[in-house]
Amino acid sequence: MQQVIIPSAARGPLSYFLLSTNHQPLNSISSRIRTSKKLACKLFRMNTSKTQDLKPFRMNTYKGNNILDTQDVLGYALSMKTTLQLPKTLQEAVAFFSDPQRRFDYAIALRWPDGKVTCPRCDSTEHSFISTRRIWFCKECKKQFTVKVGTIFEDSALGMDKWMIAVWLIVNAKNGISSYEIARALGVTQKSAWFMMHRIRLAMHNKDFVKLGGPGSEVEVDETFIGGAARFMHPARRKRVITERGVKDKAPVVGILERGGRVHANVIPTRRKHHLQAEIRAHVAAKSAIYTDALMSYQGLNNQDFVHQTIDHAERYVQGQVHTNGLENFWSLLKRGLKGTYIAVEPFHLFRYVDEQVFRYNNRATKEHFIGDGDRFQMAMSHIANRRITYQELTGKGTDAIHQA
Ligand SMILES: [Zn+2]
Repeated sequence: MQQVIIPSAARGPLSYFLLSTNHQPLNSISSRIRTSKKLACKLFRMNTSKTQDLKPFRMNTYKGNNILDTQDVLGYALSMKTTLQLPKTLQEAVAFFSDPQRRFDYAIALRWPDGKVTCPRCDSTEHSFISTRRIWFCKECKKQFTVKVGTIFEDSALGMDKWMIAVWLIVNAKNGISSYEIARALGVTQKSAWFMMHRIRLAMHNKDFVKLGGPGSEVEVDETFIGGAARFMHPARRKRVITERGVKDKAPVVGILERGGRVHANVIPTRRKHHLQAEIRAHVAAKSAIYTDALMSYQGLNNQDFVHQTIDHAERYVQGQVHTNGLENFWSLLKRGLKGTYIAVEPFHLFRYVDEQVFRYNNRATKEHFIGDGDRFQMAMSHIANRRITYQELTGKGTDAIHQA
């Protein structure tokens, strides 16, 4: 008997999935998805007309602060054949991923949610499985592949047990976690931990191009500066960061927040009009009400299908609906998170830390939707495929920089 523990937010779509793949009595369904028999009955009626051909499903899009919001989630659709009780705490996660076979089954279910293993190089389904080594041999391209190929874990010598725990720690560290802490927790070098963290941040990067806002929505836009604090830097570092590279000591970051919804943030070259407004046009839907401070760069948004109102921070911070306090909250989380990394971040890696905080913010628990550590983990893990980055790409060729933070 399988058991799948489902967060409340996901019950609807998941029960849909269970119902369409299994022919089970209602009692058993209601107990498995931990819901009332009445609800199960309702879901059952909803689904009896639609049968089998549901394949790996895309979860519904809800309005509001929902873990499933417009995310391309294939998570939860884990192998229905195995007995998986997904971990909800770090302790459960350690126990869960200590078993090689379970770890392997879990990775397969994430990598190929429809259960059909395909070669990551040529997409062929003709292969033989070498069970002793847990690898496949592709009959088409005559190459071997593992479950790691084509994911953020590719080419890593570290075991999946370490990777899983690293993901868990990072996605759930509200105030950030340093590579030194990860290194100590996993028993790897700081350099390895640093590289792991950047790969994991890649999985946390939201690839969706769904715009925020829309008619009737309120969107806050604000900028802040990150970095600098030159007085706290080691003299050698200060010399390198500020003088040699010619990098100014602070980088501007723009934030866009849909009230009651999600946040988008990005490092921008300057706070000039064309940079700021390009970001707004790319990420805010037309007809949104936009609130900003009185910075000149925001002028002219009213002519671009937005309803723009400003608050002059020299005078006051709130005027009715017009304020950017929602973003202030996000900025403080971001800055606290960066502090949690112990050391100032290299400017060219800043966007990865911003992605990390955006992920945690958009997947935070709210009054309406409980989202637990296990849910955030699942969310990040569902994005491991088709994303990879090499050490060279991360560090720049020939660079022998010290990778701190
Ligand atoms: Zn192949």
